[in-house]
This record gives sequence, structure tokens and C-alpha cells, in this order.
Amino acid sequence: MKKIQDDIISYREMCDIENVQTLQRGMNFRMNQKYSVILMSQRSNAPYIDKVHADGLTIEYEGHDVSRITNEPAYNPKQYDQSEKLPSGKLTQNGFFIKAVKEFKKSMANPELVKIYEKVFPGVWSLKGYFDLIDYRNVRDEKRNVFRFILKLSNRQENYDSKVAKIEHTRLIPSEVKREVWKRDDGKCVICGDTKNLHFDHDLPFSKGGTSLSTKNVRLLCMRHNLQKSDKII
Ligand SMILES: [Zn+2]
Repeated sequence: MKKIQDDIISYREMCDIENVQTLQRGMNFRMNQKYSVILMSQRSNAPYIDKVHADGLTIEYEGHDVSRITNEPAYNPKQYDQSEKLPSGKLTQNGFFIKAVKEFKKSMANPELVKIYEKVFPGVWSLKGYFDLIDYRNVRDEKRNVFRFILKLSNRQENYDSKVAKIEHTRLIPSEVKREVWKRDDGKCVICGDTKNLHFDHDLPFSKGGTSLSTKNVRLLCMRHNLQKSDKII
């Protein structure tokens, strides 16, 4: 049994795991019968959209901008409020996720299960984990309204992926930390220098007082060294 959260995968591997040719959109409601998929990709000069809350288990994800509605070269979707519906009245991806939150809050449904992948660098992706979609907010962000979806690390993930070992509720490693660690460790296992099957490893488990919030206790390990380490701890 292999822990896949925080594994480093290529874009192609991510598409293969999800059984699709391409993954273009950030928000993919009910990509299959079991879960939705969200891709996180931080713009380099933006504040952290995938803000990890202080509990280390909850993240905020910013909704989708409106699609291009004119061909004007100066058209900028960031000038427009994010929308729940298309002009036709059909739900946007924001709308589908909001509907799921409302049904969950009325106890009509379980929280939507959302699998989140994050782009660490171009071509370097990492599975952040499976999350329960528990809430959303419509907030004023500078000059426009945006949605922020609240997702909490789920403990239902083992039911949906037979390859995933039972995961102790580890806290999330912020993307910024992952980027710094990737650069510092030069995209290689810190023990053997392997560049394949890499994993972001917590040097000290949370249960033993480790925290993910610093680059000091996160490192890159290949699968072999990650598994060896796990054996010693258990
Ligand atoms: Zn190694």
C-alpha cells in the first residue's frame, strides 16, 4: 500500500489516473460518478489562492472567472464578477459546486468529494488529497465578487482509491513550501538522487510534533526511500 498524497506526478500521469485525454479546466464537477476534480495552479504574482487554514486541514479555493464573452483584445475576465450561471441560465462550474454545498447544508447530500491536484511547477503536479466540499463564500476581492470554496481534508478517500494506504490525517503542505523544497532539493531524492517517483516527505510526522509549515521538515524522497522511512516509523 502506497501513500499517494504528495506524490509528484507529470501532467500525463495525472490525466491517466483520471482516465482522460486532457485536463483543461480548473474545476471539474463530478468528473466521474464518485468525485469531482479541482486543479490548483497558483499564479506567481497572486496572493495564495489555495490558502491553507491554520488547522492545516482546510483550504480555500477561488472559483472560476467568467468565460470570454467578447472578442475585444482588452477583454479581461478578472474585471468581472465570478458567476454562478451562464447567460443561458445554465450553471457554471461555480454553480455546480455551490449547488452541492447547498444540498449538503440542507442535509440532502453528503459533502461533495473533491480530489485536488496542485501544479508545483510546469510539468510537476502533486496530489493534494481528497477533500469534502463543506462551504463557499462570495467575497469582495478588490473590485469584483469572487467565490471561495472551503474544502476540508476528507477521511472518505480510502473508499475511492484502492491504492491509497490508510492515511493518518496529515496536515497539508502549502504549495509555496513545495515549490521551495523542489528548488532546494533540485527535483531529486535527497538520499539517492533519483528523479523518478518522487514524494514530498515530512521529515518528522505530525504526530511526533512535526509541522508542514516550514521547508525545514519537508524534503524530496523517492518511493523506495519514502517506504523505507515509513517502515522504521511503524
Ligand atoms: Zn531515494
